[in-house]
Amino acid sequence: MKRILVTGAGGFIAGHLVKRLKAEGDWVRAVDIKLPEFGPSAADEFAKLDLRDREACRRALEVEGGFDEVYHLAADMGGMGFIHSAECEIMRNNALINLNMIDAAAAVGVPRYFFSSSVCVYRDMQPGEPELTEADAYPALPDNEYGWEKLYAERTAEAYGRRFGFAVRIARFQNCYGPEGTWRGGREKAPAAICRKVAEAPDGGTIEVWGDGSAVRSYTYVDDMVEGIVLLTRSDLEGPVNIGSPQYVTVDELVATVAKVAGKEIAIEHVEGPVGVQSRNFSHARIESLGWRARHDLESGIARTFPWIAEQVALAAAS
Ligand code: NAD
Repeated sequence: MKRILVTGAGGFIAGHLVKRLKAEGDWVRAVDIKLPEFGPSAADEFAKLDLRDREACRRALEVEGGFDEVYHLAADMGGMGFIHSAECEIMRNNALINLNMIDAAAAVGVPRYFFSSSVCVYRDMQPGEPELTEADAYPALPDNEYGWEKLYAERTAEAYGRRFGFAVRIARFQNCYGPEGTWRGGREKAPAAICRKVAEAPDGGTIEVWGDGSAVRSYTYVDDMVEGIVLLTRSDLEGPVNIGSPQYVTVDELVATVAKVAGKEIAIEHVEGPVGVQSRNFSHARIESLGWRARHDLESGIARTFPWIAEQVALAAAS
C-alpha cells in the first residue's frame, strides 16, 4: 500500500484523484484550505491547512515512514473571469503555495512529486496553426499572470528535483470539466458556466456567452485527466507534459453540444467578457507515448456533467 499526499483535494480535479487512488487501495491524506463542497472526501485523512504557510506544508508532509508520492494540485484559481480580475492574488498565493510545498517536500525527502501546471503557459495562437509541443512554451509569452506563475513554479519544481535528486513530474492540463467542479460564483470555467446557463434556460431560450463564440479550445473529461496524472507521475517522463483531449471546438460548438445533451433549443447572445486566447492546438505525443488517450469525447463527457449541474441548479432553486 502506498502512502500518498494530495493537495487541493477539497477541490475538483484533486477530489477525483483521491477517489481514483483510494479505489486501488492506497492510503491517502488529502489537504486543502477548505473542506470539499460536494460531500465528504474519499481520503483516509483530511487536513485543513493553508499551504501558503511553510509550516503548514511541513505538517501536511509529516507521516510515519514518509510519503511515496505527492500530488500537488492546490492553487488559487478559476475561469477567465477570475484569472483577469484577481491577478495579484493569483501571483502571490500560488507562488507561496508552490514554493513552500516543493521546499518542504525536498526537506523531508519525498521520492516522487507531481505538479499541476496549465496550457496557460503557452502564447496565444490563431486558428489553423500547427500544434505546439511542450518545448514551444519558450520563448515564453503566456497570455495571463496565471500562466507566468505556472511557468515559474514548473521551473522551481524542476530545479528542486535536480538539486535534491527526486522525481518531479509536471502536467500541463488543458481545460478540465466534469461533475463536482465549481459551477457558479465567479470561479467556474466555460463548460460548467455553459451547463449552468443551459440548465437555467427554458427550451427555446437564449443564453449569454462571452466573446464572439469563435475561440477554440479542447475540453478534457476529469476521469481522463486523472488517469493521465497517475500514469505520468509513475512514469520516467521528465519535463512538462501536455494532457488534453485532441478534440478542438469553438465556444459556440461547446454551447451546441450542451444544448443537444440537455435536449433544448438554445440561442446565443454574444456579449463582452474576458475570453482569453483565440485558439489552441497542442501536441499530446509525450503523454500518448505512455499509452494515454482521452476516452471521452466532448458529448459523452458533457452527458456525464450536465445532469449533475442541472441537479445543482434545481437544488439551489429549491433552497
Ligand atoms: P479547484 O479550485 O477546484 O481546486 C484547487 C484547490 O486548491 C481548491 O479546493 C482550493 O481551496 C485549494 N487551495 C487554494 N488555496 C489554497 C491554500 N492556500 N492552501 C491549501 N489549499 C488551497 O481547481 P481544479 O480545477 O481542481 O485545479 C486543480 C489544479 O489543476 C490547479 O493547480 C489548477 O491550476 C490546475 N489546472 C486546472 C485546470 C482546469 O481546467 N480545471 C486547467 C489547467 C490547470
